[in-house]
Amino acid sequence: MAYIEPAPIKDIENPFESMMSRFDVAAQILGLDPATYNVLKTPTKQVIVALPITMDNGQVRVFEGYRVIHSNILGPAKGGIRYAMDVNIDEVKALAAWMTWKCAVVDIPYGGAKGGITCDPRSMSAGEIERLTRAYTMALIDVFGPDKDIPAPDMGTSQREMAWLMDEFSKAHGTTITAVVTGKPLVLGGSVGRVEATGRGVMVSAFAAMEKLKINPFKATCAVQGFGNVGSISAKLLHERGVKILGVSDVSGAYFNENGINIEEAIAYRDSNNMSLEGYQNAQKITNEELLALEVDVLVPAAKEDVITPENVHNLRCKLIVEGANGPTSAKADAVVQEKGIMAVPDILANSGGVTVSYFEWVQNRLGYKWGLDRVQRRSDRILKEAFDKVYNTAQKHDTTLRIGAYVVAIDKVAQTYKFRGGF
Ligand code: GLU
Repeated sequence: MAYIEPAPIKDIENPFESMMSRFDVAAQILGLDPATYNVLKTPTKQVIVALPITMDNGQVRVFEGYRVIHSNILGPAKGGIRYAMDVNIDEVKALAAWMTWKCAVVDIPYGGAKGGITCDPRSMSAGEIERLTRAYTMALIDVFGPDKDIPAPDMGTSQREMAWLMDEFSKAHGTTITAVVTGKPLVLGGSVGRVEATGRGVMVSAFAAMEKLKINPFKATCAVQGFGNVGSISAKLLHERGVKILGVSDVSGAYFNENGINIEEAIAYRDSNNMSLEGYQNAQKITNEELLALEVDVLVPAAKEDVITPENVHNLRCKLIVEGANGPTSAKADAVVQEKGIMAVPDILANSGGVTVSYFEWVQNRLGYKWGLDRVQRRSDRILKEAFDKVYNTAQKHDTTLRIGAYVVAIDKVAQTYKFRGGF
């Protein structure tokens, strides 16, 4: 029997509309003309594919896969691939648009894209995930390409899936093409520093913002929501630099220790426990909502969209939000964050370290040359710091939030490029 995995309807704001409401404010500040406005808001390409896979038990299941290219004005499209049960086309559209703005904020020559498959990778064997990844690659073989659209990891995927994608794409073209995907294992042309890159960018952004707010990192406290690649590495790097992490969380719940969580130990526990913090001992178990409401200097939402909502935003007691995830603050909660005097370093700036080092990986693949860790980190830290300053100054100039400042910087860059290319 074959059936399509249903995408559950989400009882939250439509993430694409959430993105658009910020876009609209920035477009107004920029006085964007209606033609450019319409071009920039509309995704260039949206593809939905059916992926029939023989499961280990011999049954065939048909999964649904997506790839949205939001824009290729600045260059080839770039963005991750997400494997999760609630992936749907609206979410992928929003995530693709955020990639466009993210690449523009850090000034790297890419447009934005995102992909996904509605599936539960935790309940699938490695063989099933491999067949699914290879089927997805073949279904999108004409979309992907080092000069067209370059995928990368996102939630539910890692270097393992990128290796399969690179291999399948290369086989179809009869030659090894490393630059078609980033976030690959080091031996397959991955870049040093890519795995830690998003978390490192979160740390750099957090430090830049703490400086503005005159928060001493050695006295600062922090809570991190989400303990995957981005959350755990952000926590580790902040912790190593003197910030006390009072709470962390994952799907199993949240964990609080007023003396600070030992992050190295929590990561080691998670790694030995099927990538889950379930049963982590050296902390008190609290709920995810309690974690978000902790009285801390810095809150790092690093899981997924819409965790800070109109319902819970009033409970926040932090001074600074640094968005490790994409879209963790729903648009309807923005105004309250601002009213409460909380500075929010937006996703398209705070988590752009990942795509920045993806760009370095792609550059190295095309050069046929490998950079050292020092060069990767120095260059990405500088890009992030410069982007932060530009966004901060733009926000000051227009008397607005860092989020709208970041959209203004990004939209202005894409709009100007479009005009020079002779869009119309
Ligand atoms: N998935 C990551 C993001 O949302 C990385 C994308 C990439 O490196 O292309 O930024």
